[in-house]
Amino acid sequence: MAMISPPVPLEADLPLDDLRAMLRGTVVTPQDPDYDADRAVYNAMIDRRPAAIVRCRDAADVVACVRFAVANDVELAVRGGGHNASGLGVADGALVINLQDMHSVTVDPASRTVRVDGGCVWADVDHATVGFGMATPSGFIASTGVGGLTLGGGIGYLTRRFGLTVDNLVSADIVLADGSLVVADETRHRDLFWAIRGGGGNFGVVTSFTFRCHPIGENGTVVGGPVFYDLADTPAVMRWYRELLPSLPEELSGWFGLVTVPPVEPFPEELHGRKACVIMWCYTGPHDRAEDVLAPVKEFGSPLIVGIQPMPFTALQSAFDGLYPAGLQWYWRADFFNEITDRAIDVHLEYGERLPTGHSTMHLYPIDGAASRVDEDATAFAYRGGGWAGVIVGVDPDPANAAAITEWSKAYWEDLHPESAGGAYVNFMMDEGADRVRASYRGNYARLARVKAVYDPTNVFHLNQNILPAA
Ligand SMILES: Cc1cc2nc3c(=O)[nH]c(=O)nc-3n(C[C@H](O)[C@H](O)[C@H](O)COP(=O)(O)OP(=O)(O)OC[C@H]3O[C@@H](n4cnc5c(N)ncnc54)[C@H](O)[C@@H]3O)c2cc1C
Repeated sequence: MAMISPPVPLEADLPLDDLRAMLRGTVVTPQDPDYDADRAVYNAMIDRRPAAIVRCRDAADVVACVRFAVANDVELAVRGGGHNASGLGVADGALVINLQDMHSVTVDPASRTVRVDGGCVWADVDHATVGFGMATPSGFIASTGVGGLTLGGGIGYLTRRFGLTVDNLVSADIVLADGSLVVADETRHRDLFWAIRGGGGNFGVVTSFTFRCHPIGENGTVVGGPVFYDLADTPAVMRWYRELLPSLPEELSGWFGLVTVPPVEPFPEELHGRKACVIMWCYTGPHDRAEDVLAPVKEFGSPLIVGIQPMPFTALQSAFDGLYPAGLQWYWRADFFNEITDRAIDVHLEYGERLPTGHSTMHLYPIDGAASRVDEDATAFAYRGGGWAGVIVGVDPDPANAAAITEWSKAYWEDLHPESAGGAYVNFMMDEGADRVRASYRGNYARLARVKAVYDPTNVFHLNQNILPAA
């Protein structure tokens, strides 16, 4: 099979004026003042120098870029929100399709759907839908890109009640490796539609997504926020949480974390810098039931802080924006977990005590409720057993701490991995190799490889958690 090898052409070797003539958007090269800003991604550990970056304005620009890259044998990177941990939206010597300028959102309140350009971040979408008292399931942080998060699956506050982001995808406009644009949905290109619901950016460039929306809370106001406990309480809190969660109504979800109390308002000064465990809750049901539903989560144990309160869903989604701005150093490791075992709890406590920096953290995100009622082969996303997606992230502003956060994450992962279900959520993985990608898709990998062979037989779209085309 002819595979595209990753050449590293000099920008001067590429006939970029031919490309410019086809575009409404702009081409940014190393000579341009915007080059350094445009090649930077969310994770500041990533420092790559593409040959050119195209700020696409519409689907026709994307088509022109794909055709140009294939014709000139230049590696193609696709950048949505630029949040990917391993910096998959940028590569040395590549042509980058930057979708950031394609960020319009159109809500149809009558059909409860939202049409979203491929370069949006979730803040764009939440703003538009919450204005109508609705949301589509996304993640836990609004600065993340819609493109990458959706194509990998999408795990967030609304997963228990309404499923993964991909479970709410109605259709997608996709530019394929041959430069054609197709619509994939339940009736058109059904195999492609199956594959993009979890299969990442392997199949083409999505220029537009349409999602189903759901009314949430009272006109988009939910009741949510953190409950912090002393780190020493971690074993008791985790044992209680693993039993409690399945018994809660699906309008309430909560993820578990190991954290350091941030040294900022509104956290009490005496707790600043204290290591803690936290559950971040979100209740999206009617407010007259909120007190009853939330009573058990407020009353358990001896919390340090109970920060649960009514707030617009947009505020909950943006709660971490200030703490985690773009430009920090990040190192990620991840796994899926079917259960939280007693041994896993011991490991969490040990590494929680050794959190290397104030930003470093571990989160367990539930994939249960509505998400686990979808068959594992109904979409490419293969882990729906009612467990958790776990992620260990070493984070710090200072590049001098890059080694410390990386070593802590790796050691934590090594100790915890035996308690896992095998693979990991592809959106939380670094460059971990083909076996880990296969493990993450489990029984769906072979079908993904067959769909890849139909839509991208030469692996043009390989800067992702790559699925090799079937022979
Ligand atoms: C701070 C932070 C919080 C996060 N929280 C969550 C969370 O709550 N839930 C969750 O599920 N995930 C979460 N993630 C993980 C996130 O889903 C991935 O990092 C995802 O890859 C980000 O998508 P992006 O578009 O921003 O990334 P990019 O780096 O732009 O792209 C990532 C990959 O997707 C491809 N891609 C992006 N857009 C398109 C498109 N339109 N068409 C085709 N391919 C495309 C790229 O080519 C690349 O391979 C979080 C990440 C960070 C950094």
